[in-house]
This record gives sequence, structure tokens and C-alpha cells, in this order.
Amino acid sequence: MTDTGLRGAQRPSAPRGRRPQPSERSTPPAQTLASTPSATETDKAAFAERGQPSCCEEPDTLARLVEVLAEHADAADQAAAFPEESVDALRRAGYLGFLVPTEHGGMGRDLAGLVETAQALAGGCLSTAMIWVMHCQQVDVLVRHAGAHLLDRLLPRIARGELYLASVTTGPVTGGHLLTAAEPLRHVTGDVSEADGDLWLERTAPVVTGGGQAEGFLVTMRAAQDAGRHSVSLVYADRSALTVESTGRWNTLGMRGTDSGPLRLRGTVPADQVIGTPGGFRRVATDSMIPLAHLGWSACWLGAARGALRGLLGWLRESSAHDTSSPLVRERIARVRLELELVSAYLERMRERVDEVRAAGDSLDSPALQIQLNTLKLAASELSFSAVDRMVQLAGLWAGYSAESPLRLERALRDLRSAALNYANDRLLTANGSLALLDRKVGLL
Ligand SMILES: Cc1cc2nc3c(=O)[nH]c(=O)nc-3n(C[C@H](O)[C@H](O)[C@H](O)COP(=O)(O)OP(=O)(O)OC[C@H]3O[C@@H](n4cnc5c(N)ncnc54)[C@H](O)[C@@H]3O)c2cc1C
Repeated sequence: MTDTGLRGAQRPSAPRGRRPQPSERSTPPAQTLASTPSATETDKAAFAERGQPSCCEEPDTLARLVEVLAEHADAADQAAAFPEESVDALRRAGYLGFLVPTEHGGMGRDLAGLVETAQALAGGCLSTAMIWVMHCQQVDVLVRHAGAHLLDRLLPRIARGELYLASVTTGPVTGGHLLTAAEPLRHVTGDVSEADGDLWLERTAPVVTGGGQAEGFLVTMRAAQDAGRHSVSLVYADRSALTVESTGRWNTLGMRGTDSGPLRLRGTVPADQVIGTPGGFRRVATDSMIPLAHLGWSACWLGAARGALRGLLGWLRESSAHDTSSPLVRERIARVRLELELVSAYLERMRERVDEVRAAGDSLDSPALQIQLNTLKLAASELSFSAVDRMVQLAGLWAGYSAESPLRLERALRDLRSAALNYANDRLLTANGSLALLDRKVGLL
């Protein structure tokens, strides 16, 4: 295909957003966003183009947060550095406590709010949005499965923005396989099954989003020295109880701002910090960690692609160099829209299903629901990436492919390429194939 329907490739004229200067980062007053660096006119225009999010009781706060995230996204991407200003803004706004119940000082929000907010944040910075949803995923795990004493200790800290939780599930031997672990918890005092003993935790963690900054970690471990790899415990470890050693750099094609570099963790944790029952991680994973991951990640990927489409459409409308009456341009826009509509609808329906099953007190660990949750992740990762790939083709070399373009499609493309790898789609496809062979009635969502 040679006719792009675009009348000449022109460099987009709008300047890129200002790079934040390190000196601009000041210690902000508590509970306010007012001291965060102000957005440039370019960023403000870009945000106005993206539109006000409709999801929240506090739209001004969310709108301001999206602005802050957008302002710092390029710097985090270029330096492959944790977006500290953006995460600090989330902390100050109380967003680390998004899923913390109000009786523990949190925002007490629900999954519908999480999915909508993640989309909005991802329109500003996909790395920061992923950092936030992965933290919220750990909070949901705690709220639903931690003991009362641990909840009393942790939830108020999270609500105050003092405790960002990182996740350690990937292992050097087991790879991405979530439900196995190689390195065992060891008894220091008492028995590993007793709530009053201490446990020695020593863990190689190849990929830990925000691990350099996290104040706490949820870590999967083999339940005991004599346990098999499928006997997995999830344990909470406070950073203050650990020696945390950085063992390498995070220097990837995309999602560079997640700063997901490798760590080595060592330390002693009280046995009452095992989440759920010893060896019972599967139940925690199917009830909370997997559904929250697939809902949250999918919302982020969709939000990033959606934000990219808003930017592209605004640019196409303004650019006299492009013939938007061209059937080819319209067909390409329609295909992008088709992909995002499908992800949006499946995400919303899946979120409703998870809420329905939880409200009924039923288990999410059924073959049909597993297929559907996996399908959400597969569809969102593939279609969001495909949509941005199409946008790059439509926008062309300068507006689409160039890192100098204000549309930032190039960054979105690199970021979204990670979606199929962030829990390997191959694993989910082979699992779904096995489960689907058993479901001869083909019960669909
Ligand atoms: C942005 C980002 C952030 C992340 N943050 C975290 C984090 O905070 N904490 C954390 O623990 N992990 C994190 N991860 C890691 C993630 O959860 C996965 O564990 C990781 O991406 C898998 O990497 P892998 O492809 O090397 O491993 P594996 O999943 O082990 O796969 C290895 C290879 O085997 C192939 N493969 C696997 N299974 C099959 C199969 N059944 N059939 C055929 N081929 C198969 C895969 O395609 C792949 O090529 C993050 C990843 C990304 C991209």
C-alpha cells in the first residue's frame, strides 16, 4: 500500500513538553498538590485535548494528577528512572489509599473506580499508572487476605501515603510462573506454621517495579524448606526489616519509568506476616492478585492507547496537511477505534463479573472465569499495542515514529510492546487452550 491518504509528511509544529528540572522538586505541604511544578501551556493544551475524566468524585484532583504525570513522563522514560514527582503527587493526594477502606483512613474506592482512574492516569504516563495499579493490587491482596493485626499496622500507613508496596512474584528459576516459587522460607524461631515465630526470607527478585523506592514488599516464597515448588506462601516484608541490594539496571525498550530492576532481598519477618495460609498463595492469587492484575493492567494499556488516539485525532483535525476526508484515513481511524471499543467493553464486563462473583461470595477460581480473565489480558495487551501501531502508520514518520513528535506515539508504542511480556501471553494462551478444550459447551462471557 503506497497511498497513505496523507498529503505530504510534515513535521508537527507543536513543541515538546518542557523537561522537568531536578531542582524543581520540592518537599510539598501535606495533602496538597499545589507545590508540584506547574504544567506548561503545551501540557495544559494536551490535557484539555484528552478531556476531563468522568470517573471520580474529585475530578479536579484526578485532572491535576494526570497533568503532573504527563509533565514528568518524558523525563522518566529518557532516564529510565522512577517518576518520583508523579508518585509523590499520588501519595499526597491519598491515592496510595485508593482501595484502603475508609475505616482505616483510606479512600474506600472500588474496582470500577480503579479501572477508570487507571485509564485516566495512563493517559498521562503509562509507567506511573502501572506503578499505581500494581500497588493497588497489593493493597487488595492485603485487605482481603491479611490478618487483622497486620492490617491495623499497614493500612493507615498506606492511606497516609507512607507505604508504597512492591510485588515480588517473578523468580530466577521459576521465571514468570506465578504459582511456583523456588527459594524457601526458613524457620528462625518457632514453626513456620505458627503465627508467633520468625521467618528468614532470602529472595532473588529479577523484576521489581519501583523496588528501589518501595517501603514494603509482598513476596512469594516456597512455603518451607521441605515443601514443593507449588507450595507457595505470600509474605509481607517491610523494607526496614530487610537488606535490599540492587543487582542490576532496568534498561528496557519501554516502560522505562517503572524502574523495575533486579533486587536481592534478605531479612527476618514475623510469621504473622504470611498473607493467607502458609502454602496457600493459590487462593490469594486467584481471588485477588490475578483479577486485579488483569483488570488494572488492561485499564492502563487501554488508557494509554486511548490518550494516544485523542492526541492523534486532535492533531489530524488541526493539521491542514492531512486529508481527513480520505477513505483510507477514515478506515484506519475506524480500525483503531474498533480495537479500543472491544477492549473497553470486555474490560467493563469483566470488571462487573469480578464484582458480581465477589459480592456473591463465590470463587473466581473456575475454568470459565480463568479463561475470561486471561482473555482480558490477552486482548488488552494485543489490541492496545495494535491500535498504537496503526496510529504510528497513520501519523507517519515525523508525527508518529519520531521521538521528537509531541504526540508521543513512539513512547506509547515502546511502552505497549511490554504488555504481551508482562506475564507472558504464551503462558496465558497455553493455559486457555487447555481450559477451552474442557469446555465443550463454549460458554462465553
Ligand atoms: C513493565 C514490567 C513490570 C514488571 N513488574 C514486575 C514486578 O513488579 N514484580 C515481578 O515479580 N515481576 C514483574 N514483571 C515480570 C512479569 O511479571 C513476568 O514475570 C515477566 O515479564 C516474564 O518474563 P519472561 O518472559 O522472561 O519469563 P517467562 O514468563 O518465564 O517466559 C520465558 C519465555 O518462555 C516462554 N513461555 C513461557 N511459558 C510458555 C509456554 N507455556 N509455552 C510456550 N512458551 C512459553 C515465554 O514466552 C518467554 O519467551 C514485570 C514485567 C514488566 C514487563
